[in-house]
Amino acid sequence: MKVVTIVGARPQFVKAATVSRAFAACQPAVTEVIVHTGQHFDANMSEVFFTEMQIPKPQYQLELGGLGHGAMTGRMMERIETILKDEKPDWLLVYGDTNSTMAGALAAVKLQVPVAHVEAGLRSFNRAMPEEINRVVSDHVASLLFAPTDAAVRNLANEGITGKKVVRSGDVMYDAAMFYSRFGRGQVLQSLGLRPREYFLATIHRQENVDGPQQLETIVRALSRCARELPVVLPIHPRTRKKLAETGLDHLVEADRLRLVDPVGYLDMVELEKDARVILTDSGGVQKEAYFFGVPCVTIRGETEWVELVECGANRLAPPVSVQAIVDAALAAAGDTSKPPVGLYGDGHAADAIAQRLATA
Ligand code: UDP
Repeated sequence: MKVVTIVGARPQFVKAATVSRAFAACQPAVTEVIVHTGQHFDANMSEVFFTEMQIPKPQYQLELGGLGHGAMTGRMMERIETILKDEKPDWLLVYGDTNSTMAGALAAVKLQVPVAHVEAGLRSFNRAMPEEINRVVSDHVASLLFAPTDAAVRNLANEGITGKKVVRSGDVMYDAAMFYSRFGRGQVLQSLGLRPREYFLATIHRQENVDGPQQLETIVRALSRCARELPVVLPIHPRTRKKLAETGLDHLVEADRLRLVDPVGYLDMVELEKDARVILTDSGGVQKEAYFFGVPCVTIRGETEWVELVECGANRLAPPVSVQAIVDAALAAAGDTSKPPVGLYGDGHAADAIAQRLATA
C-alpha cells in the first residue's frame, strides 16, 4: 500500500505529524511518500515542525511558495501530476483547506488516484474565504472523507456526501496536542518574561483580516487596548508582519506591552497556549488548541468552522469591526471560569484510525 501525502502549510505539518507516525506503526505496512509544496517555506513556518515533530523528510520539495492563488495552485497541480504518474500510489492524502490541499486533490482525481481528505466537512459558509473554496472542492472529489466532528458530518450530508466514504474520525490536531505537549522545554514563558495566566496570546493571519486595512487597524487597536490590562504576545505570521509594515500600522504597536515575536515552533506554541489567560486568534487550529488546554478563546472573525466551541461557550466570536467589542470579549473571557464539556474532538487516536482505514482500504 502506497500513499502520497501532500503538505505545504504550517497547520498541515501539525496534522501530518500524527498520521505519519501512525503510518510508521501500521499493519499492513504503508509506504508514505511526502510531497512538500513549499507554500510555507520560512524555517520557523516549516523546517522547525519537521525537526521537532519528527516528521519524515519529504521526498519531493516543490518550492512553490510566494505566488498568487492561481499560479500557485496551477503549478502545484502540474508538478503533483508528474509525481503521481511516477509514484503510482494507491491513495493521495491531503489535509485541511489550503491551495496545496485543493491542488493535490484535483491533480489526483483527474488521474483516477483516489483522494483521502483529513479534516473534511468543515464549512464557514463564507465563500469570500479562499479556504472555503479549497474545502468544498476537495471534499467533492474525495473518495474517503475523514470528518473531525459531528457538525462536519452534517455539513457533508447537506451537500449529498454520505455513506461509508464519510468517516467520523475525531481530530488529528487533538492527537498532536496530547502527544507533543509532553515534550516542551519549559523555557518560553521565562524567555519572554511572562507569568502563567498573566498574559494574552494572539495570532492573526487570515487573508480577510490582514489584507483589509480597516480590519487590521481594528485588530491592532484592540490588541493594544487589551495590552493595557495584561501583556499580549503575538507570534506574528509573515503575511501579517508584511502587511503591518506596508500599511504603516506597525506604528500603533506599543512594543513593551504588545509583543510581536517571530513565529514559534509547535512545542513553544503549545506552552504559550497552555498558560495563557485568554487566546485571541483567527486561526482554526489555535481555536481548538485553546479548548484542548482549557483556555478561553476569542475568535476575531464573524464566523467559525468549529461551531461546537461557540455553542458550548469555550469560544466567543468578535468580528474585526469594533475595537470595543473585541476588548469586551477578551475581558469577559478572562473572567470566565466555566468548564466546557470534554471530548468534542475524539479520544486522541484519530490518526491511528485514519492510518488503519487507509491501510486496509
Ligand atoms: N502555530 C505554531 N506557532 C505559531 C503559530 C501557530 O506552532 O507561532 C501552530 C498552532 O499551534 C497550530 C497551527 O500552527 O497547531 C495552526 O496553524 P495556522 O494558525 O497557521 O493555520 P490554521 O489553523 O488557521 O489553518
